[in-house]
Amino acid sequence: MTRTAPRPTALISGASIAGPALAFWLNRHGYRVTVVEKAGTIRSGGYPVDVRGTALDVVEEMGLLPRLRDAHIDLRRLTFLHGDGSEVASLHPHAVTGGATGRDLEIRRGDLTDALYTAVRDDVEFLFDDSVDTVHQSGAGVDVTFRGGGSRRFDLVFGADGMHSRTRGMLFGPEERFHRYLGHCFAVFPMRNTLGLSHEAVMWNTPGRAAALYAVGDEDEVHAFLNFARPTPPYYAFGDTAAQRALIAEVFADAEWEVPGILAALHDTDEVFFDAVGQIRMPRWSEGRAALLGDAAHAPSFLTGQGTSLALIGAYHLAGALAEGDHVAGFTAYERRTRDFVTLTQDRVGEGGGILFPTTAGALEQRNERLRALSGR
Ligand SMILES: Cc1cc2nc3c(=O)[nH]c(=O)nc-3n(C[C@H](O)[C@H](O)[C@H](O)COP(=O)(O)OP(=O)(O)OC[C@H]3O[C@@H](n4cnc5c(N)ncnc54)[C@H](O)[C@@H]3O)c2cc1C
Repeated sequence: MTRTAPRPTALISGASIAGPALAFWLNRHGYRVTVVEKAGTIRSGGYPVDVRGTALDVVEEMGLLPRLRDAHIDLRRLTFLHGDGSEVASLHPHAVTGGATGRDLEIRRGDLTDALYTAVRDDVEFLFDDSVDTVHQSGAGVDVTFRGGGSRRFDLVFGADGMHSRTRGMLFGPEERFHRYLGHCFAVFPMRNTLGLSHEAVMWNTPGRAAALYAVGDEDEVHAFLNFARPTPPYYAFGDTAAQRALIAEVFADAEWEVPGILAALHDTDEVFFDAVGQIRMPRWSEGRAALLGDAAHAPSFLTGQGTSLALIGAYHLAGALAEGDHVAGFTAYERRTRDFVTLTQDRVGEGGGILFPTTAGALEQRNERLRALSGR
């Protein structure tokens, strides 16, 4: 009688983009995979994200490209406004982002997470409404206890639980050590499409402040976005929606254009996502039998437009490297294949911040001149 070796087991914390992508590849490479997600379900909806470059090859190999092409948003126009609401320039988004027409994808974050989840849900165990409480590593495996009760042993554990990763906190220490604040804070929330915008975004700027409305399609709702410069992060406001509203109302108190209406919408919604604009930079992404990926390991900030692509590429390389040998060699190979591109992307952030959120009157005027030149005005 022949005995087949048991399949290695893996636990992944976080079921957004990096988590299900890693689950897909690990499952394909023979792992028995469990994903634990603190939310009650896969979160659909949400702001648009880009999938570019090598990440497109990754989703193609996963068989998801046709579905994602159908979900492509096709933003047609980007209009920039002066503080008084008059137009600076109106142009095709790719003129600003450097994207490639016909190849790059822009999709609702929820459409991507739905596609990834659908691709793995029959082959992978999902534990929703739960999270890891403790991890204890030994030579034999990783012993994990869950908040919902119970404990299990896994061969490997992965943190795909985002920018404020709890897995990172447990394995590597507090976020402050790895967080690089980029000098801005932002809030995103839904509001009524009062301007009748369609497949377009409009952005208003004064030095150090930006307000944008983003219409993904012809829907009645748009994504409102507020961004402001601030030398140090307002720690007191994280996790306190009332404090966030008060801070934003103060920063934008004298703003013109549609900003008063945007502030009123902010006041009326419970769906505010507020955070500092920042990056996660770590000297290494693994510790023993555990590793981080996606924003948990190397959030580049939304200024790069590459967080989603990096998460997809990292998941692919991580699983691929583990398929070639043991976890020690695998984690080393994962970093070797991924880190240079991550660092390059993170280092380019100055360019994005300068275009979208100039902080001085001089920088804003220079930005506006560039935009006028790009639009041919
Ligand atoms: C406003 C905004 C705009 C953006 N725009 C773009 C863009 O245009 N292009 C782009 O490429 N990227 C963009 N990004 C970045 C992109 O969203 C992230 O880079 C990407 O989502 C990273 O995926 P992830 O799976 O690593 O982490 P996340 O998407 O953050 O997912 C983490 C998951 O872990 C779960 N979780 C958290 N803690 C726990 C826990 N303790 N236990 C279990 N589960 C947990 C969360 O519920 C979530 O499901 C944007 C981000 C924001 C905030």
